[in-house]
Amino acid sequence: MPDQYAVIGNPVEHSKSPLIHAAFASQTGQDLVYSRLLAPKDAFVATANAFRARGGRGLNVTLPFKGDAFSFATVLSERARAAQAVNTLKFESDAIFADNTDGAGLVNDLLRNLGCNITGRRVLLLGAGGAARGVIEPLLQQRPAQLLVANRTLEKARQLSESFRGAFEAATYTAIAGRQFDIVINATSASLAGELPPVPPGVFAHGALAYDMMYGMRQTPFLAFARAQGAAAFADGLGMLVEQAAESFFVWRGVRPETAPVLAWLRQTTHD
Ligand code: NDP
Repeated sequence: MPDQYAVIGNPVEHSKSPLIHAAFASQTGQDLVYSRLLAPKDAFVATANAFRARGGRGLNVTLPFKGDAFSFATVLSERARAAQAVNTLKFESDAIFADNTDGAGLVNDLLRNLGCNITGRRVLLLGAGGAARGVIEPLLQQRPAQLLVANRTLEKARQLSESFRGAFEAATYTAIAGRQFDIVINATSASLAGELPPVPPGVFAHGALAYDMMYGMRQTPFLAFARAQGAAAFADGLGMLVEQAAESFFVWRGVRPETAPVLAWLRQTTHD
């Protein structure tokens, strides 16, 4: 019987992870099946344990369970510890190994797919929720000239900065007026609601890249704003999704799939 993997979430029916992992498995000749696992909102542990008991080898974890998965783990990777959130679980006898591949997904998408160097650049990260937290450590490892996190609720950005021992600046949106950045990443959930985070005009430096973690929309309000503001390059979060999946696949199988063909295929089917 092939090894069993799944993505656990609520809701989970929209998830593209089964498509991505099936493509990786066929590309690399790995014998596995990957399904969707809907867990009641108050029963993450019971659902994950039942999957383990059926012989499940690993899970991807999506909303709203990334914090539950963090508590569920018995062994945490450095990345999971820094993010305080988990998107990848690997079951090995009694151990529950946990990782967070979201940040590596973003960084790999920027470096490999978009040819966008982070080292020495000024980076503005919008939002201080789970997605922002997960990408901070991998972004800092690239040694940007500056990392600033702007959030609607300043206190949340401040707490985040404190938990990284002040390794980056925290600010409100109004406080960043007059400053310029080379890479502006929207890690808020504003696009989901068709809204624009209150980014002041003029934040995009000459040649800046605008990146929206949201995917599945032709144009988000943030990317439309960036275009109107003269940003030079634009990306949605589909590349991050595929890259974080590749990193999870590597954690489970020790094999690195090629992401470019899967991303190209997914982009075609997403925008059909
Ligand atoms: P959270 O709910 O944890 O955080 C939401 C954040 O968005 C908060 O900082 C909140 O600010 C801010 N926010 C929400 N609405 C607005 C608004 N109208 N204006 C300004 N700020 C706003 O969500 P996540 O961090 O988990 O997810 C954020 C986004 O990232 C989602 O769109 C998700 O789909 C995407 N994502 C993409 C991934 C990928 O692989 N491409 C992976 C993970 C996430 P405040 O604190 O003030 O409330």
